[in-house]
Amino acid sequence: MREGIRFLVVILLFTGLCAAQARPFPSGDVQQIYQRLLSQIDKIQAFDHHAHPGYADDPDVDAMAAPPNASEALRTRDDNPELAAAAKALFGYPYNDLSPEHAKWLLNKKAELKKQLSGTAYFNSILDKINIESSVANRAMMPDYLDAKRFPWVFFADSFMWPFNNERETGRNPDEGVFIPLQEKMLHRWMQQVNVTKLPASFADYLSFISRVLEDNSRRGGIAMKFEVAYFRPMSFSDPTSSQAEDIYRRFITGGIPTEKEYRTFQDYIFRYLVQEGGRLHLPVHIHTAIGIGDYFNLSQSNIMSLESVLRDPRYASTTFVMIHGGYPLEREAIWLAAMKNVYLDSSFGELAQYPSEFKHTLKMWLETFPDKITFGTDCFPYNQVLGAEESYWLGAYSSRIALAAALAEMVSEGEITESRALELAHAYLHDTAVKLYNGRVH
Ligand SMILES: [Zn+2]
Repeated sequence: MREGIRFLVVILLFTGLCAAQARPFPSGDVQQIYQRLLSQIDKIQAFDHHAHPGYADDPDVDAMAAPPNASEALRTRDDNPELAAAAKALFGYPYNDLSPEHAKWLLNKKAELKKQLSGTAYFNSILDKINIESSVANRAMMPDYLDAKRFPWVFFADSFMWPFNNERETGRNPDEGVFIPLQEKMLHRWMQQVNVTKLPASFADYLSFISRVLEDNSRRGGIAMKFEVAYFRPMSFSDPTSSQAEDIYRRFITGGIPTEKEYRTFQDYIFRYLVQEGGRLHLPVHIHTAIGIGDYFNLSQSNIMSLESVLRDPRYASTTFVMIHGGYPLEREAIWLAAMKNVYLDSSFGELAQYPSEFKHTLKMWLETFPDKITFGTDCFPYNQVLGAEESYWLGAYSSRIALAAALAEMVSEGEITESRALELAHAYLHDTAVKLYNGRVH
């Protein structure tokens, strides 16, 4: 009898140990675990940490625009048949392709719905259909057709870095010819917003103009500032003194073209000033860190790791950083930046650029490293008049949920975590981690 009990205890201990021992392959149960997790994950009301909601004819969807004729990777082309599946799921689209005559059905259906769901109800209904509680609206300005309670605004902060004559900046390549004039336009809109007709002659006054815009944007509901600086210049930042920056400002604010080195030095100072203000004003700093649209986008000069000296600088410990797109395709290195307590990674765009079978690996690796520092986003964007932010929202949310369920199912099946822990991690990624960054301003 005693022997029997002892034997039983040994067996129990052994199985217990086995359960906690990670294995290199999933067991035969991985599909069932996936199905169980997915049905729970589908029920989680998500917070979309990065998106560009709006209509295709609304120029304020972004502070910049796609350059004409830019190459698109396979899955992000507007002939991706998955977009027809998205239209089917959202609007009952009856066709499997998006031929021009079929697309007319979709245009009419949306027009009809917009009439029925006036004001902010139309886009709210899209979020309801994909179980997103609220979604960041990273836009130049907010329109009256988005409900500010469900679409918190993230505004753009790059334009403060381009106050001088930008002739050389614009002429660098055809993409910059599109981007830089839009930055100038953005700077003028900020000036109008705080009643500044002419940029001040003194550098101290220029800095206080910047701070006034940030404070005003925060009052208008802005929850964070966003940089897409990698589109316009290299993403490595030197550490100039204020007198260096002041000297350049005084020499060029009334005219003349600074040398490239002078312009970059000035911008490096302004970038760091904005980062510091983000800490003071509790405005997290979002930075585009990934490949970008446009054939001239320079990958090696926009490497996320060139931000390391800024992110690991103790002077900015009170600023919260969100690495938008998680450094893709360098997400494997990027996750180690999240070792810093104030640095987070957003997975948006990765789930649109990659198919779920590949995106699953990104999520798994992140979940196995700093699972409490990663957040969900779609990077939804209106493709064209037919395929809008709606379909892109659906594809982003759907892809992220199935890739998340697959990554977690493998981790459970390989003995890394329990199923209940997997669900905690799913809640953190889809909603809780991001929401906590905004101190009650979002939900
Ligand atoms: Zn984006």
